[in-house]
Amino acid sequence: MVRNTGYDEWLDAVADGEGYALTCPNGHASLPPRHVCPDCGVTDLSETALPSAGTVETFTVVHVGTPAFADETPYVTAIADFGSVRLTGVVRGVDPETEADDEQQTNPEPIAIGDPVEAGVERRSNGDRTLVFDPVEE
Ligand SMILES: [Zn+2]
Repeated sequence: MVRNTGYDEWLDAVADGEGYALTCPNGHASLPPRHVCPDCGVTDLSETALPSAGTVETFTVVHVGTPAFADETPYVTAIADFGSVRLTGVVRGVDPETEADDEQQTNPEPIAIGDPVEAGVERRSNGDRTLVFDPVEE
């Protein structure tokens, strides 16, 4: 069954720890809002729960943000692999400055490829909500 959800409802689900992907009978996965599979066009989409944590595939320290994030620079964005889908979010709880200006590399990277992260949702000062990643303590 599909709740016929939009992105807001999907963020609600992620915030509740119940994030999901939409999968079609041919195994393609996508994220809401979708009513048809973007890969093959079928409309028979069902919800598949996302794993509780994903792994960082790549990350970027952003020093010049989009207007909505301008007062938060620098910050770290990452793309994380959640199995069937990849999510993009802002990484919380890390120090973006550890990478910058560190020619001696005495400081660790703020986060590493392969690090586990949990997806969450944060309400921003302008009222928008955004996807965030919290590094999982190992
Ligand atoms: Zn498909």
